[in-house]
Amino acid sequence: MRIIMLGTSAAMPNPDRHDSGILITVRDRHYLFDCGHGATNQIVAAGINPADVNHVFLSHLHYDHIADFAYFMITTWMANRQTPPVVIGPDDTQHFVDSLLNPDEGAYRKDIEARVQYKQRQDNFHALQADVREKEPGLVFEDDYVKVTACYVEHIPMEISPCFGLRLDTVDGKSVVFSGDTAPCDRLIELSQGADLLIHECTFPQTAIDFRSKAGIGTWAHTSPTDLGEIAVKSNVKSLVATHFGHFDSHRPAVRELMSKHMPVDLMGPEMMEEMIGDIRKNWKGDLRMAHDLMRIDI
Ligand SMILES: [Zn+2]
Ligand SMILES: [Zn+2]
Repeated sequence: MRIIMLGTSAAMPNPDRHDSGILITVRDRHYLFDCGHGATNQIVAAGINPADVNHVFLSHLHYDHIADFAYFMITTWMANRQTPPVVIGPDDTQHFVDSLLNPDEGAYRKDIEARVQYKQRQDNFHALQADVREKEPGLVFEDDYVKVTACYVEHIPMEISPCFGLRLDTVDGKSVVFSGDTAPCDRLIELSQGADLLIHECTFPQTAIDFRSKAGIGTWAHTSPTDLGEIAVKSNVKSLVATHFGHFDSHRPAVRELMSKHMPVDLMGPEMMEEMIGDIRKNWKGDLRMAHDLMRIDI
């Protein structure tokens, strides 16, 4: 199994990190987890044809996890995709997909109407109709290579939109868990038990969390570095990758300005990443990597 971190940031633009996306390849088959801004471009950067990606799993419907979806679909339709991709997500995923790509009512209906004038696009028009499957926790997908299991995590209030953590197990006995976005969550710890790799969000370092609680900006929906170390210990995983970083390591002036209401900007920079590592390490002594875009992990 090969894992490529396509995007490793939380919401907000940052030229050094794309939004959430992970490409998992088992033998010759690709599984895309999240489709945040830049995911399609990053699949190409990883040397893979996005039209060969036929399975998409959406952890939740926050825009930093789904904003590239229409781009992915129309791009791969133009690239002569023949198979409609399977798209698995929580409640309301169907509405999200239809509102973009329904040829009669979707936001992109005029783009679709213009392109479908050409015979080639008529010939594979069916590939633009994603096979959307809204799921509940439990087994959400199975083929002859992998099994994917989901649990609800603690992020957006359930009554607004449920959020998934996802686990992929291969026929070769390998396993990877992706937290999606979540506060510390016992269900995710249970889902992660014994996994080879836990890819877990760690959006803010403690300094930023303290700043945010003083400023009255929410922090409840994410996991702190200290908590993440404890989660990794309790999950009995072999290896931990922290991701979904809230731009705290950026020195770019425009990124700092964008984050000025969210973060003590004067402290932003690589030192904050060091602080985060130190806090994760308070509890977790095992294998640890801080994700960066196009980071590759082979299991
Ligand atoms: Zn997010
Ligand atoms: Zn989110």
